Formats: sequence, structure tokens, C-alpha cells
Amino acid sequence: METVLVLTHVDESGSALTRASLEAVTAGKELAAQLSAPLTIGIVAVDATATASSLASAGARLLAVTGEAFAQPRYATDAAACEALCRAASATIVLAPGDSRFTRVAAGVAHRLGGFIDTHITAIGGTEAVEVGRWFYRQRVEAVLSRDARPWFLLLDAGTHAAFAGEPGPAQVEEVAVPLPALRTTVSGFRAPAQGTQTIRPDAKLLFVAGAGWTKKQPDGQTHAAEAGQLILGFLRASGASLGSSKSLVDQGGEGNSVLPFLTHLNQIGQTGATPRHANGLATCCHGEEPHVVGWRFIGERRAVSLDPNCGWARGKADVVYVADAFQVIARVNALLEEKKT
Ligand SMILES: Cc1cc2nc3c(=O)[nH]c(=O)nc-3n(C[C@H](O)[C@H](O)[C@H](O)COP(=O)(O)OP(=O)(O)OC[C@H]3O[C@@H](n4cnc5c(N)ncnc54)[C@H](O)[C@@H]3O)c2cc1C
Repeated sequence: METVLVLTHVDESGSALTRASLEAVTAGKELAAQLSAPLTIGIVAVDATATASSLASAGARLLAVTGEAFAQPRYATDAAACEALCRAASATIVLAPGDSRFTRVAAGVAHRLGGFIDTHITAIGGTEAVEVGRWFYRQRVEAVLSRDARPWFLLLDAGTHAAFAGEPGPAQVEEVAVPLPALRTTVSGFRAPAQGTQTIRPDAKLLFVAGAGWTKKQPDGQTHAAEAGQLILGFLRASGASLGSSKSLVDQGGEGNSVLPFLTHLNQIGQTGATPRHANGLATCCHGEEPHVVGWRFIGERRAVSLDPNCGWARGKADVVYVADAFQVIARVNALLEEKKT
């Protein structure tokens, strides 16, 4: 008989679970139902009261490791907390969000428990045995894995399950005591990019892709990189979209051409870039060549604005193509978004 444990942690507010944790809860509920197995949810937080009430309708046993020492991500305390939760739950299958906090400790915790770990899991299923899916070779090959080793740790990729959203209510949470390990690391605080300068937003509904056309000569024979930058940043501010780029555009920096200063190779989408998950995607000034579009594998609905009616998007890679000047389109869209706000 399997016992399923979902490991979760709170966000910066200290009282709500991260979105990735809530997605892991959904995956845990589905797996427990499929196996007719008991479900336990483990919470790491300073105080788990508010969090536990948000999980009241999950139909799970709730365990928590709490205290000031667990407020900040830190290997020693997070590993000790997760280990204690796994032991208290006698878990055979442990699901956890594949975010930076738990990815850092999960392999170590699996080792302490003599278990096995698989990462980047995108699907969980199977009939006779538990089978999990993950992608290899830059998302070209999908593998289905099963293992006899227990406990089996599965780190879930974000965006692969709906976030759990149940009615809050009174919940009983069992505190798990953790003897504090020796602490060599002091967390002195966070340093993050100023609000508005962070352009990669994995939780955004929309992926906005800028292609090389934004910095190329336009019909008036001139380049308009500064205007392009303002239009793109204006759109990102108004829409909350995540910014992606084609390889050609981010590569231009090395060629001495005019570039958009807020773009780096981290924004690159495609075969040699990222494969993000967003409900919608909008490509602008981008040709839609295969090595770029392969990075759109997990984008729900695809739209593109290109001057070229023969671009790759128009040849079956997008759901909707607007053959239009992206400078004009985005200026108009920004104005409409501004109007809507006021
Ligand atoms: C091994 C390999 C790996 C690669 N990996 C990647 C990868 O990971 N990611 C990636 O992106 N590429 C990758 N590429 C490159 C890819 O093949 C293309 O060269 C690249 O995606 C082209 O970028 P682009 O569409 O922005 O530029 P371009 O091909 O120059 O297209 C610009 C487009 O903008 C349009 N345009 C210009 N002005 C306007 C305007 N005002 N309004 C609307 N449209 C306008 C033009 O009509 C044109 O269609 C790879 C290539 C190779 C060989």
C-alpha cells in the first residue's frame, strides 16, 4: 500500500502556499485517488495555521514543521524539515514542487531516507504501477518512468497541474518536532531586481516574444530600437506578460548592432533556449522558424504579428497571424490597455 506525501512551503507573505506548492497538492490528490492511498500534506512555515486552513478541504492529513528557523530557505533547515515530514508520514511516494527551494534539498533528503528521486516530472499516471512522465533532449523525447524503489521522490515542473483552490475552513494540523541542525548559514535578506525590471515571469498568463524585426530597418529606412524598447516595456508593464525573445535578437548584442538593453539569453525561447509554459503566446517581429517555435511546445494559444505573410507562423505554426506592423499594433494595444486602467 502506497502512502503519498506532498511537501509544500509558504511564499514571501509567510501565510500562503506558493503556487507551485498548490499545484503539487492537486497532483497529490489525483495520485492518492488513483491509488486509493492515504494523502498527507507536509507544510514548512513559520506558522502553519493560516496555510492549514486553506488546505482544509483537501481531504488530507496535515503535518507541519514550524518556527522562525524555517522562515527562510536554507539547506540545513529545509532538509531537516523535509526529512522529518517524510519520516512522520511514512511516505512511499513524495511529491514536491520543483522550485529553487525544494530542488536544492530534495535529492539530499531522498538520500537520507535511502530513496530515489526523479526531477522535472510533468505527468503522473499509470494503472498497475505508478508511472510518471518527463521530457528529455530539449523537450523532443517524452519518457514514461516507473520504479520499485521507495520512497520515490518526484519533483514536479511548474505549470503542469492546476493550483489547488479549496474552501478555507478549520483544519487540524499535527506539528512535527525537528531537532535543529548546526546552522552555518545566516540568511541576511533578499536581493531582487527592482519591481518592473524582472521580465521573465513564469506565472504570467501571456508570453510576449520579441523578434529581431524590432531592431531592423523599418519601411522609412531607419532603425527604431529606442522606440521598440519603450513599446515592449510599456506592453509588459500594462499586461504583466513574460518576455521571451528569438535567438537572432539576443545574439545581436555581440554583433555591435542596436539592441534592447533589457534582453539577455535567459529570455531566449527555442531549441537552444527555454521552453516555458503559458496559456497564451504573442510573437512580434519574429519569423517563426522551427528552431524558435520548438520552444513554444507548451504554449496554449499562439498568435503572431509579422509583416511577412509568408512567415513560419503563417505556415501553420500559429493559431492567429496578424499581418501588420508591430510598432503600430503594440502602440495601439498599449493605448487601449492604458485606457482600460484609467
Ligand atoms: C542549431 C540552431 C539552433 C537555434 N536555436 C534557436 C533558438 O533557440 N531560438 C530562436 O529563436 N532561434 C534559434 N535559432 C535561429 C532560428 O533559426 C532563426 O534564425 C531565428 O529564430 C530568427 O529570429 P527572428 O525571427 O527574430 O528574426 P528574423 O528571421 O530576422 O525575422 C524578423 C521578422 O520580423 C518581421 N518584421 C520586421 N519588422 C516588422 C514590423 N515592424 N512589424 C512586424 N514584423 C516585422 C520580418 O518580416 C521578419 O519576419 C537556431 C538556429 C540554429 C541553426
